[in-house]
Amino acid sequence: MAAATDASLTLDSSAKLLAGVGPRRLKLFGRLLGLEGDITVGDLLALYPRDYQDRRHFSRIRDLKAGAVSTFYGQMTGMAHDRRTATGKTVTQAPVSDGTGIVQLCWFNQPYIKRQLHPGDRFIVTGKVEYFSGVVSVTQPDLEKMDDSPALSGGRIVPIYPLTEGLQQPFVRTALRQALDHTAALVPETLPGWLRETRKLLGAKDAVENIHFPSGPDALEAAQRRLKFEELFLLQTLLAVRKAQDETRPGIKLTIDEPIATEIRRMVPFEPTTAQKRVVREIFRDLVRPTPMNRLLQGDVGSGKTIVAAIALVAVVRNRGQVAIMAPTEILAEQHAATFSALLEPLGISVRLLTGSVPTREKETIIAGLAAGELPVVVGTHALIQETVRFERLALVVIDEQHRFGVEQRMMIQQKGSSGEDPHVLVMTATPIPRTLSLTAYGHLDISIIDESPPGRAPIKTSWVSHARRGDVYHFVYEQVRLGRQAYVVCPLVEESEKVACAAAVSWHEYLQRELFPNHRVGLVHGKIRSDEKERVMDEFRRGELHVLTATSVIEVGVDIPNASVMVIEDANRFGLAQLHQLRGRVGRGAHESRCFLVTEERYNPAGASRESLPFGDAPPTEDDADAAQRRMRILVESSDGFRIAEEDFRLRGIGVYFGTRQHGRSRLRIADLHHDMILVQEAREAAFDLVRRDPNLERQEHALIRERLTDLHIEYEIREDYTAVA
Ligand code: ADP
Ligand code: MG
Repeated sequence: MAAATDASLTLDSSAKLLAGVGPRRLKLFGRLLGLEGDITVGDLLALYPRDYQDRRHFSRIRDLKAGAVSTFYGQMTGMAHDRRTATGKTVTQAPVSDGTGIVQLCWFNQPYIKRQLHPGDRFIVTGKVEYFSGVVSVTQPDLEKMDDSPALSGGRIVPIYPLTEGLQQPFVRTALRQALDHTAALVPETLPGWLRETRKLLGAKDAVENIHFPSGPDALEAAQRRLKFEELFLLQTLLAVRKAQDETRPGIKLTIDEPIATEIRRMVPFEPTTAQKRVVREIFRDLVRPTPMNRLLQGDVGSGKTIVAAIALVAVVRNRGQVAIMAPTEILAEQHAATFSALLEPLGISVRLLTGSVPTREKETIIAGLAAGELPVVVGTHALIQETVRFERLALVVIDEQHRFGVEQRMMIQQKGSSGEDPHVLVMTATPIPRTLSLTAYGHLDISIIDESPPGRAPIKTSWVSHARRGDVYHFVYEQVRLGRQAYVVCPLVEESEKVACAAAVSWHEYLQRELFPNHRVGLVHGKIRSDEKERVMDEFRRGELHVLTATSVIEVGVDIPNASVMVIEDANRFGLAQLHQLRGRVGRGAHESRCFLVTEERYNPAGASRESLPFGDAPPTEDDADAAQRRMRILVESSDGFRIAEEDFRLRGIGVYFGTRQHGRSRLRIADLHHDMILVQEAREAAFDLVRRDPNLERQEHALIRERLTDLHIEYEIREDYTAVA
């Protein structure tokens, strides 16, 4: 290993210049960091340890005490060899010594470990000391081969780095030490003094040194806090700047007077809940300001978001503004069009539908009407983003089920107006978003929450049953249908597949119609059915002409049929937690007592058969799959609180499920964790908004580095289109 002699190494130098780092290892570092192209020394400094081991105190072998977990040096004094124990196990033993005594290292049933053990090898050994018939032993020790620089691997709190095939722990440690020796002094201080002082944050250089080679436990904690804070703070500053910029754009200031209020009161067919009233007030407060509203409305399924949108809509239309309502699927767009028409037509406000399946002639008429400002309200799908759609005075955009749309699509619809003013934007989502996420991914939006459901709803009773009890489930469905109720049966697949053995909508539909409901009508919708056909089926179901609807998760969002009181989800383990909660929300929307059945194979069900008995040919679920699936089912059975479910879903599946991979490269969060560092997220957010209030354009000298970092920060949390897909 040649020592790096280049004294002029900087943070931007290629990491290739570090001793021992050739093209092959450079690539491996790139893989660990998730970076392509040339890895710089500065990049390498962001390869944070995944863990630490306290090796401050090395014991001499002579002083080892039985029962204590200890760390000591040891050199192998003989060959590793196998022995059979009385109970028939194979134990591999290897003697090590530090000159003060000998310890037998032992492994059970791992004969291949011998290949890594050679006489003369030196190790740092950590493990629990035991005496076996007078011999000092450590079973299943944690071993680390010592290299030329033992000072890095012992006598201190030692960093444990993430590794990949071909990179060994001591090598990574040595590379990081070199990188620090050359460049730690060059690490710039991004955070201004006032911020470090008020938030009690360690300086940048100290933080980088101590995150890798902590001088003690307190220093490590301070380094972690500082670096996490910095990541979160930059992200929040980006959001704060974006929000501040949104707020300087010209909006459409509405006047909401008594006649409008009266009209609204007449329109609303029920007494709004306290939460709905509060949210309407929040929205009105935005609408009467001269800047555009950017608000996220969160409310669990059935919490009554639609009427809130309708109220805002009346206020806008009475101020001569136009409204675009965007839904992610045609089914939803059609349903919204119907709901809004029913509310608004009596007030003389016409509502038009614009989707891919509207005939061309009609489409042209609608597009012309919107451009001329003659049509006040349009409901549609992605079709609304088409090039040709323009509005004369677009004043409100309502986006339902936000997670199906990307950030870019939202920006496109926002720019559809011709008046030079930005429309108000109301984003509605039925997926309760965990608080940390709403503070980051949606951090530039204001948030309103409907946390109360309309009165008179019987809670949905949820049961988790195994295949063996399907008969009972469908008997219940049958009884409900005879009582005049309707039912959904949801399958994970459209058609049978050789690869995955689980329920498919097409064959279930056939089976249900033929075998179980020969005297009733069973319908079928899924993503592969033509949209006019889908529309026809949904209409029939809505009118009660179909008794059972077999479907895939296309019916997940927004479908509102109060007479439906049973939801059967086949192979429920195939769905994610949030998705199951959404599906369940299709029932319990009327006054009828409703039930949801989560049907899974026995092996996913704790009361079921053992994991060995596989009714189908596909691979058995791993312990983890089955455990995670069981946890999901259990949470659903126990809870109907959408926010709790969202938190759990987030915990079980992580951020990747909510967001696409735009969070990549040099801008991703490397040390902060949105879930675990919730309190820091809040602190960083406060600090960032404080900063942008003090210095909106980050013009002050002490904020120059922040501004620079923001320009490379492209964290664009793209909401994943396939959010609902099974992970
Ligand atoms: P979501 O938030 O899922 O979009 P909806 O707006 O579709 O919920 O409302 C669900 C159902 O509850 C609708 O049938 C709606 O008319 C009804 N609803 C909403 N608010 C109230 C209320 N305050 N009192 C009674 N029924 C209400
Ligand atoms: Mg809705």
